[in-house]
Amino acid sequence: MPSYASIVDDVMAELPEDRVGLWWIPSGLRDDFAIADADEVRERSLALVHEILSRPGVHFGQFVSGRFERWTLAPDEVVERIDQDWRRLGRPPDIGEIGWFDRDLYPCPVCAFDLDFEPWRQGSPSHEICPCCGIQFGYHDSAGGDAARTRQVYENWRERWIGNGARWSSVGRRPPSGWAATSQLAKLGVRVP
Ligand SMILES: [Zn+2]
Repeated sequence: MPSYASIVDDVMAELPEDRVGLWWIPSGLRDDFAIADADEVRERSLALVHEILSRPGVHFGQFVSGRFERWTLAPDEVVERIDQDWRRLGRPPDIGEIGWFDRDLYPCPVCAFDLDFEPWRQGSPSHEICPCCGIQFGYHDSAGGDAARTRQVYENWRERWIGNGARWSSVGRRPPSGWAATSQLAKLGVRVP
């Protein structure tokens, strides 16, 4: 049994930067795993869709009059609707057909990088590290629930990060293509000298 996890990983790696079309999955199954049988491609694709939709913050939707609209359905229902659309189509979806995966993004409070996790949720830290500025939520910014102190931690971290050249922090993860600290910081109204 080959592992199709690489397709899920590819989709999850792309999602913080852009929406990913459903067509990625059947084309990955055909190109990377040489699955030719149409029913098998559909069934395996739907299983992968379900797995992707079970990841936190991932949604599915389609463009309606030029605006992206998420389907407000449970993962099971999304899979069922995709299955129906796919059968109606009578072949694997092509670019733009049926829909796209979409992901919630959370700007880092220090550097404004779009994180694919929520730094804090209802008072509980994620313990994740921002790959861009290196702050770890729940460790570096634990200020005993004091909002003013937390803000100060973020400002200090940002100042120090900029002072050190505003360089990409993570060794294990590459910055997105075209990444620039200056335009990112501009979102916070911060100008880099
Ligand atoms: Zn950051």
